[in-house]
Amino acid sequence: MSLKPPPLSNDCFALPPGVSWTPVDEALAHLQARLTPVAAEDVVPLGDALGRILAEDICAKRSNPPQPNTAVDGYGFAGGRADGPHSLALVDGRAAAGGAYDGTVPAGMAIRVLTGAALPNGVDTVVLEEDVTTDGAQVAFNGPVKAGSNTRTAGEDVAAGDRILSAGRVLTAADLALMAATGLAQVPVRKRLRVAVISSGDELLEPGAPAAPGQIYDANRVMLLGLLRQCGYVAVDMGRIGDDRAALRAVLDRAADQADAILTSGGASAGDEDHVSALLRESGALQQWRIALKPGRPLALGMWSGTPVFGLPGNPVAALVCTLVFARPALGLLAGEGWQQPEGFVLPAGFAKKKKPGRREFLRARVRAGKVEVFKSEGSGRISGLSWAEGLVELPDGALELKEGDPVRFIPYSSFIGS
Ligand code: AMP
Ligand code: MG
Repeated sequence: MSLKPPPLSNDCFALPPGVSWTPVDEALAHLQARLTPVAAEDVVPLGDALGRILAEDICAKRSNPPQPNTAVDGYGFAGGRADGPHSLALVDGRAAAGGAYDGTVPAGMAIRVLTGAALPNGVDTVVLEEDVTTDGAQVAFNGPVKAGSNTRTAGEDVAAGDRILSAGRVLTAADLALMAATGLAQVPVRKRLRVAVISSGDELLEPGAPAAPGQIYDANRVMLLGLLRQCGYVAVDMGRIGDDRAALRAVLDRAADQADAILTSGGASAGDEDHVSALLRESGALQQWRIALKPGRPLALGMWSGTPVFGLPGNPVAALVCTLVFARPALGLLAGEGWQQPEGFVLPAGFAKKKKPGRREFLRARVRAGKVEVFKSEGSGRISGLSWAEGLVELPDGALELKEGDPVRFIPYSSFIGS
């Protein structure tokens, strides 16, 4: 069973006409409305399901606990006991976890019980071992003891048939425990989303290669491949391509063949050497997104042979911000995770800042001593600031005059990445 969901339509990235600079929220709402899962379904053993995305809702096959049991080591009997001293004769035998007592405990008698043991017939109440004296034939203790004390009822945690996890969930270690306890051994998951990464530009070199003047090392590819792996996807490295349309066409063909989605960086604007946008335009599926966002350059979105392409700006700062803000949640939908809204934290600013209205701004930021610090330079060429930062501060679309101590929204990188 590995049914591939239907492909996306060629116009899935088409924004409403007439809008020159699209607000961030509008662009996000568009992605959210138009993208659907493309990753096929699969079934894996429970032990292999960590970090995988649930393809279907999961219902408990068995209750937890499956039967009433004792929460402590002690002595079990029927009913509560009033204030004052009590003494009960003990039956022979005991009930232990995994070693049930087959008989029935007569009214007025007690039985030795160990934590986790199913309550024997005739027992609904347990008194703690520490609260009794015993000679092996009788137990004595002081009331009051409430009926039902120190026991767990069947299904008090989860009842058989309850929905325990929802489709789209990225499975945690605790989720595996929950499924194990409730009788599941095979898990319906999505196949891991495969995402190809291509760098484009004549100036780019492989890290470590001898560099001539004018050449720079390809920083985006390792960054994007790394981010994709952190998201739990299969990152497919398609290498670097010069500003050569035929070569780029060939690598896009290979990427569309091997992956469910493609990230390119560089060449996404409208210039002569911007071959990503040129090729997507040729294929009739280019949507040039001009988003009211800083740092951001035009994004070239489109379909290549049925595979969605996110044409990111070449500038590493813009590439990272656009990936976290747009590509990441879009890929989450394609992967079957549903729309992931990154969790932000409102904290006092450790900086002052003035901004004009008209576009949203993301600053490289981190939190120290409860305050949000921003990187010393907003220069978009500063890769060191990406690395210095531990997340982004999101400043609203409108004008702003921020003083130190004012609340700002900090979104850790890990909130964008999720799970
Ligand atoms: P582009 O979007 O192709 O116009 O590139 C914008 C800027 O980003 C240029 O200065 C490029 O040299 C730079 N750039 C493009 N791709 C990369 C990359 N993979 N790694 C580092 N810098 C890049
Ligand atoms: Mg370029």
